[in-house]
Amino acid sequence: MKKIVKPNFSVADVLIECIDNLQNENLKQELIDSTNQFTSAESDFESKVITNTLHQIQQNIEISNTINSSVLKGIYTDRMVNKTNKGRVFYNSIFISAPYGKCPFCSVKQVRTLDHYLPKSKYPILSITPNNLVPSCSDCNKDKLVDSPTSSEEETLHPYFDDIENFDWLKAKILTLNPIKFEYYVSPPNEWSDLLKTRLTNHFSAYLLNDLYSIHAIEEFENIKLQLTKLYQNLGVNQLKEHILDCYISRYSVNKNSWQTAFYNCLYENEDFCNGSFI
Ligand SMILES: [Zn+2]
Repeated sequence: MKKIVKPNFSVADVLIECIDNLQNENLKQELIDSTNQFTSAESDFESKVITNTLHQIQQNIEISNTINSSVLKGIYTDRMVNKTNKGRVFYNSIFISAPYGKCPFCSVKQVRTLDHYLPKSKYPILSITPNNLVPSCSDCNKDKLVDSPTSSEEETLHPYFDDIENFDWLKAKILTLNPIKFEYYVSPPNEWSDLLKTRLTNHFSAYLLNDLYSIHAIEEFENIKLQLTKLYQNLGVNQLKEHILDCYISRYSVNKNSWQTAFYNCLYENEDFCNGSFI
């Protein structure tokens, strides 16, 4: 999970641009008059996300009979996502905020959409709230499509508010050597609160990250198998271990918790592997 910089604009900024060319003048005026309610929902979200109490936000809030759930969701889909609308500039700004265009939830796949951290199906008033919109790959967006937390523990990590990059928490182990299989898991630092440990564990599970990372690990192993075999046969165990350690240190210097960092760490720590059992 990667921390990314949160949007520097408010729901009021987004709303006014989204409805700029709205044909229905009555609806447009009613939306402008309701700005405070959008702002109030935004403030509620921001105070609760940092205390892990988002699950306490009331679901299915509508502003009026006119500005109902359907209209609120439509402002996002018809006016913020729609490329011909002025609100699209905010969609684009959030879309490109993930470094290297990589999804912050899995750190592997390409950003393809914006994910509503609290789904717009249950929280329509948060449909266009910037801090509720996070760049995401298609899979992470789908895996969490209608999911909404019912407790603090179920609140998966939020890339704008949770920063765990300076800690070591991702691990891998070799399940079988022939054929080689890996398992990824989280091992949070002892000093973390029980809540953060559980939230990370639930995040890892909700986004199916073991499945994703272990597939990449098998492919990485196949790609380096010939090279490692030659190193072991020509130069011996110590040279092989030194090479794997260099690979690990190099990746650790870039990202302490990438699947690649955990991959090389687990190869290095597996005595059977380093003694040539992978050949
Ligand atoms: Zn993803």
